Amino acid sequence: MNKLQNNWFSESCDMWPGATFSFEVTEVLHEEKSQFQNIQVFDTKSLGKVLVLDGIIQCTQKDEFSYQEMISFLPLCCHKNPEKVLIVGGGDGGVAREVAKHPKVKEIVQVEIDEKVIEVSKKHLPFMAVGFDSHKLTLHVGDGFEFLKNHREEFDVIITDSSDPVGPAVSLFEENYFSLMKKALKPHGIVCSQAGTIWNDLELVSSTLRYCKNQFASVAYAYTSVPTYPSGQIGFVIGSLDKDVNFDTPDLVFSRDDEKAMNLRYYNSDVHKAAFVLPTYVKYQLV
Ligand code: SAM
Repeated sequence: MNKLQNNWFSESCDMWPGATFSFEVTEVLHEEKSQFQNIQVFDTKSLGKVLVLDGIIQCTQKDEFSYQEMISFLPLCCHKNPEKVLIVGGGDGGVAREVAKHPKVKEIVQVEIDEKVIEVSKKHLPFMAVGFDSHKLTLHVGDGFEFLKNHREEFDVIITDSSDPVGPAVSLFEENYFSLMKKALKPHGIVCSQAGTIWNDLELVSSTLRYCKNQFASVAYAYTSVPTYPSGQIGFVIGSLDKDVNFDTPDLVFSRDDEKAMNLRYYNSDVHKAAFVLPTYVKYQLV
């Protein structure tokens, strides 16, 4: 029951029962029901602008950079030459913004199911939607699962920036999806998918990792901290067609000057290495 009451929005969901995260809203900037989901954008007292889909926080201006940089640069910096990248989802534009910064990326294809999310983000979240302005990007509106059925050996990296596995995103967490991504990759290809949190969703993390493992030669789970996501942590399943890839050792290391020029606020090579270090209760569960 996600409600705006006395200017406070509370996010609750069956995926994390019995707990809620709340923030104070100063203005409701947008509210509509699209063909796929309920879309809300709030201005807030402490988090800046906030995008909410079907009652679940997608990103806040305060901490979105942690998620966008990590889901982008973890796979990109593990690939020797990530020239062509597919983004599935990512309707706010934040992942496209980051991927476009990578010096070796020449071409980005993005497929987002809900054009209303793109429109609303362009209007209210320009700090992320700036990603849609990249000359490297070709944007399609459609279902990522269906899109992949028509693409073979085309991409070096596929990044799935999906919402949680409810509504239109359910298919992006299934094993068939990992099989389709595998077919759409060029040799040495890498995938990176939003894969839930180890505090609320260890089952989801386990099953997503297993599906990835059934298709890819090397897999790993890495994570980042996003204070406004449930439990403040979110992870990514990364898979490579190569069996000898070292995910925790980036192939490309940015200098401090690179980091400044690229306006990287979270990602650096030390954070990259640390992102794969798992706490004990997770390390032995995810084998
Ligand atoms: N960072 C956010 C998170 O982890 O919750 C995700 C942000 S992004 C807004 C998620 C996007 O995935 C949404 O815009 C949604 O419309 C899109 N999406 C969901 N299912 C999809 C599908 N099957 N194909 C393409 N895009 C999809």
